[in-house]
Amino acid sequence: LSGAELLRNGSRSQGLRYTAEQRAALGLTGLLPPTVETLPTQVLRVMRRLGDLRPGLDQWEYLASVDAADERLFYATVLTHLTRIMPLIYTPVVGAACQNYGRLYVRPRGIFLSIDSPLSTIAEAFANWPERDVRVIVMTDGERILGLGDLGAHGHGIPVGKLSLYVACGGIHPRHTLPITLDCGTNNEELLADPTYLGARHPRVRGEKYDKFVEAVLAGAVKAFGRSVALQFEDFANANAARLLALHRDSYAIFNDDIQGTASVATAGVLAALKMDGVPSQVREHTFLFLGAGSAGIGIAELLSSQMLAEDEANAATGNGDAAGREPLTREAARARCYFLDSKGIVAHGRKAAISAEKEPFAQRLDDKTFANLTSDTSLLTAVETLKPTALIGVSTVHGAFSAEVLRAMAAANERPLVFALSNPTSKSECTATEAVEHTDGRVVFASGSPFDPVPLPSGRMMEVSQGNNALCFPGIGAGVVLAGAATIPDALFLTTSQVLADEVSAERLAAGALYPPMEDVRRVSAVIALAVARAAAKLGVATRDVSGLTLEGVLAKMYDPQRDE
Ligand code: NAP
Ligand code: MN
Repeated sequence: LSGAELLRNGSRSQGLRYTAEQRAALGLTGLLPPTVETLPTQVLRVMRRLGDLRPGLDQWEYLASVDAADERLFYATVLTHLTRIMPLIYTPVVGAACQNYGRLYVRPRGIFLSIDSPLSTIAEAFANWPERDVRVIVMTDGERILGLGDLGAHGHGIPVGKLSLYVACGGIHPRHTLPITLDCGTNNEELLADPTYLGARHPRVRGEKYDKFVEAVLAGAVKAFGRSVALQFEDFANANAARLLALHRDSYAIFNDDIQGTASVATAGVLAALKMDGVPSQVREHTFLFLGAGSAGIGIAELLSSQMLAEDEANAATGNGDAAGREPLTREAARARCYFLDSKGIVAHGRKAAISAEKEPFAQRLDDKTFANLTSDTSLLTAVETLKPTALIGVSTVHGAFSAEVLRAMAAANERPLVFALSNPTSKSECTATEAVEHTDGRVVFASGSPFDPVPLPSGRMMEVSQGNNALCFPGIGAGVVLAGAATIPDALFLTTSQVLADEVSAERLAAGALYPPMEDVRRVSAVIALAVARAAAKLGVATRDVSGLTLEGVLAKMYDPQRDE
């Protein structure tokens, strides 16, 4: 590359960091302002400018321009100011960016594949991509972007944002990442009518053509980048999310973060809670009531069921608990400890509203006397009073659904009620941290989907509010899959993730009510998860690389670090 070309290449350019000698050698003489700067000075400039800008979109746009001009500066900024920057490149601001993608668009990023093109163009697109060593792909079809619905090709901001976190938190080198949008049309009328819409202008293509397209993309990705390229599915509509996962999980290293990443982070929160006084100490002693039976709820319940089975097996092996002489727990019995209310009421056999295939395994039999007063139109309050769940999990997007009465009923039934109000963004959360504390006399064990400030407890101490952020899980999971070259991603790896994440919570943080390690530790936490996932993958026989020599120090040392020359 000529000096001028180098400066225009954001993944190569060192900008003002080039020394006088480098400038002379690389043909840069006269092409840069005379000052030679260090990364910290450049980060300072970025942060100053960020402070000038209106919060939200303008800041997203500015950071994107820094990323395009100088990738290492972008990541140095993200890593130095992680908690400040994360909400700008990820939820919630990335949602606004997707909603405004038509006007924010300046230059392409990643790959767009159109369902209208012949399938042969998929290989062509992958061949056009400049990097051969792609290790992590995040792809979406844009149909369910966060809680914002169908944004068509404008959902592309999501794979871009998620991959930024793969780099920042998981230490994957930017050149190993690839964001992909599967453009299958959109049912969003506003976008279809917008002259600046970037995607195909027709309703969503469904059925066989859609399935063949997705299949061809997966096959093409593996052909171009190898069998063990990690493929993260993100923000597909509920009906496709679980179906595509089931279809392809035995053939490709795919996972769905909305189902499985969410399950990992929520289950980790439950596992951390088990260590608190007053909380039954095994998951199998709990009864879960979910408000919302979508991707998140079903995914969480399935992983909690797996944990119950794991506990049961461990108990039997060690002769712990009441295991002696007891029938082993079945998956059905484990699932039966998870109750669901969806928009049509309690998920139970015989109700009037149909029950989808994903919900079916969790449909309860309510013929039992205990449930005599539970009917299809049972309110959440009646369900809590009748079932007396130990844990109430909100994944419904219904703001305020955990009313004072519901919270009081949870407090009446439990010494330390678990209440997870996971719906995002804050405007959708089932209750606030303050409400959860107030209506349970401060006895609640609380986690949220969106960030909340610490809340004073009746004792005068402050309760740290735990945010069950998927960013604590997926970068480590993906990095572990890459380390092991895992050919598929079995469910057990998500349970491993929950277990190691729960063990990363210090005693001090637990005492302050926190269920997760601080976000500032996410790089180390991701490395711990990556190592555990890689080792577990090897144990399960899905690794294609030897992981026996891996150590935490080794994993940490290999993580992408913008401060380092490479
Ligand atoms: P989804 O697949 O669209 O599911 C939403 C579920 O809520 C559906 O089962 C729906 O019922 C149910 N619902 C809607 N209105 C309801 C009502 N009035 N009463 C009871 N249930 C109701 O969405 P998702 O992916 O599961 O995500 C759900 C929420 O969780 C979102 O707000 C998302 O942001 C949040 N989330 C948080 C995290 C995290 O904190 N780490 C991770 C993932 C998701 P039907 O099935 O009858 O339509
Ligand atoms: Mn998502």
